[in-house]
Amino acid sequence: TYDDAYRATLEYFEGDDLAAKVWVSKYALKDSEGNIYEQTPDDMHRRISSEISRIEAKYPNPLSEQKVFDLIKNFKYIIPQGSPMTGIGNHFQIASLSNCFVIGNITDGDSYGSIMKIDEEQVQLMKRRGGVGHDLSNIRPKGSAVKNSALTSTGLVPFMERYSNSTREVAQDGRRGALMLSVSINHPDSEDFVDAKMEQGKITGANISVRIDDEFMKAVVKNKGYIQKYPIFSDHPKFQKEIKATDLWKKIIHNAWKSAEPGVLFWDTIIRESLPDCYADLGYETVSTNPCGEIPLCPYDSCRLLAVNLFSYVENPFTKKAKFNFDLFKEHVGYAQRMMDDIIDLEIEKIDAILAKIEADPESEEIKSTEKNLWIKIRKKTIEGRRTGVGITAEGDMLAALGIRYGSKEGNEFSTLVHKTLALAAYRSSVEMAKERGAFAIYDSKRETKNPFILRIKEADPKLYKDLQKYGRRNIALLTIAPTGSTSLMSQTTSGIEPVFLPVYKRRRKVNPNDKDVRVDFVDEVGDSWEEYMVFHHRFKQWMEANDIDTDKKYTQEEINKIIEVSPYYKATSNDVDWLSKVEMQGAIQKWVDHSISVTINIPNEATEELVNQLYIKAWEVGCKGVTVYRDGSRSGVLISAEDK
Ligand code: UDP
Repeated sequence: TYDDAYRATLEYFEGDDLAAKVWVSKYALKDSEGNIYEQTPDDMHRRISSEISRIEAKYPNPLSEQKVFDLIKNFKYIIPQGSPMTGIGNHFQIASLSNCFVIGNITDGDSYGSIMKIDEEQVQLMKRRGGVGHDLSNIRPKGSAVKNSALTSTGLVPFMERYSNSTREVAQDGRRGALMLSVSINHPDSEDFVDAKMEQGKITGANISVRIDDEFMKAVVKNKGYIQKYPIFSDHPKFQKEIKATDLWKKIIHNAWKSAEPGVLFWDTIIRESLPDCYADLGYETVSTNPCGEIPLCPYDSCRLLAVNLFSYVENPFTKKAKFNFDLFKEHVGYAQRMMDDIIDLEIEKIDAILAKIEADPESEEIKSTEKNLWIKIRKKTIEGRRTGVGITAEGDMLAALGIRYGSKEGNEFSTLVHKTLALAAYRSSVEMAKERGAFAIYDSKRETKNPFILRIKEADPKLYKDLQKYGRRNIALLTIAPTGSTSLMSQTTSGIEPVFLPVYKRRRKVNPNDKDVRVDFVDEVGDSWEEYMVFHHRFKQWMEANDIDTDKKYTQEEINKIIEVSPYYKATSNDVDWLSKVEMQGAIQKWVDHSISVTINIPNEATEELVNQLYIKAWEVGCKGVTVYRDGSRSGVLISAEDK
């Protein structure tokens, strides 16, 4: 039962209630009647290692089941995220192992037919789990002539609402689907797009991002005009208008400052750096991203995610002898890349099961055709490209454990070195797999010779580059940095590339005021009594223990502040890290991540629009592929500030 599994898992996580609840409700194997078949994450890790080693056995030099188990157990080193964690070896659900999909933009003209088809595809994918993104740049701008009863078209916004509503309708075992909608700034309706979520309660089922090209950014910096077109960037547009780039830019900045959206995607940087785009003519032209932005994708492609837990490579954490074990890290990154490649084979089995299910469905062929064609297209891209999403978690805790301040020059340099090492080790592994298992089907070294990411590899590791030329690699694109929202709860670390949110925060629990020894800190409006207690970020507590600081004592806020001051987390939290330095760090790390990075720049409530403007321009200049800000308190119910929490 849920309760049994919860109790066992609570013990597994040493009393961490949140981790136990999230694991049992989201990831433990269960059937549709709610029966639970796994007591603790150990059972899940056995299920996953058994499946991965089954695939390994088909190839030369297989990893044993025990070896895979040792790499993934206790969320210590290698963590398959979300969809693979639930889906691998799960016979109770016919679901995909992908965390991310992008479906076709509206390429066949923007008829209602194609708009509804995208709607159906989105729902069909969400029903099988992952997050979905798609691009709206091919929809006719508002007021264009159409030859139906409306005479003029409605523009983008009504369709944004449609797709957002569809997202809200699909349940995913306790969570909703997630959607990304993007549009090019070149589209004449992009201003409406940018404003669409400003009205409270509108389009709540989608994240929105604007694809911004270099020409637009140059027009912003030089305060010049910019021509929007439909079709976008067409040499023979049916419609065009000149706008002042700065006006639209100011609106984007204002809205992001006010409500944390839209996100911005620096589209030319994405395309220039993209390896799949070397194969654009074969259907690999990047068109949008997954919901949190870390995986730019081409139509009908998917990606599975996995995180390497950086904290675990720090030996003697939080002591003077702390050291990052680069050798072990490189070795594990190689295994992580292999396991991701194995998971692609498992995904193909899953897609075949989905197709068989559709085949067996009593519906008519006509009804089934969209769903069936959708999975056939996704299957093709999965096999041809074998895309992987090897990422990390615990960047913040890794730095702290080494005694390096997040956001410092030293921190940025060390992080960049870690991600460079990761990229080279993953590419090395993918090249070795190409030798043993074959390169991805459409690999062609000649297409990639000018790609800046490949040129960086060439410079950093000439031998790897030579082998890449000779053998190819197994996977079209390999790396990412995802938010690791629930993953980091399991690893009990900071998430993704982010610094710690708060090292210590307050929580309240209800108490019986008649009990002896209870302290009532607070009586609420209905008369209930509450005790306030401090919760330590796990690794902050570990730092305290390593430094012989009592973790059971009841501290006042003042005492706690003093303790934080001497810790490596001081001035290194999401609220007080140097913003500009964080953007520079993102840009430097981006050079070693072939997909993208999910990151939010947290700024205080009183931050100005001008600061957002500077951060966004900086992000473009230093080579970030995207940027989002979150101003403290700008969105109710999303995050809680230090005092409220
Ligand atoms: N995702 C989703 N719905 C969710 C959480 C995540 O569709 O509720 C997808 C989405 O594409 C996102 C990706 O999974 O960009 C990775 O999210 P995250 O790293 O937070 O995954 P987790 O740690 O929860 O597995």
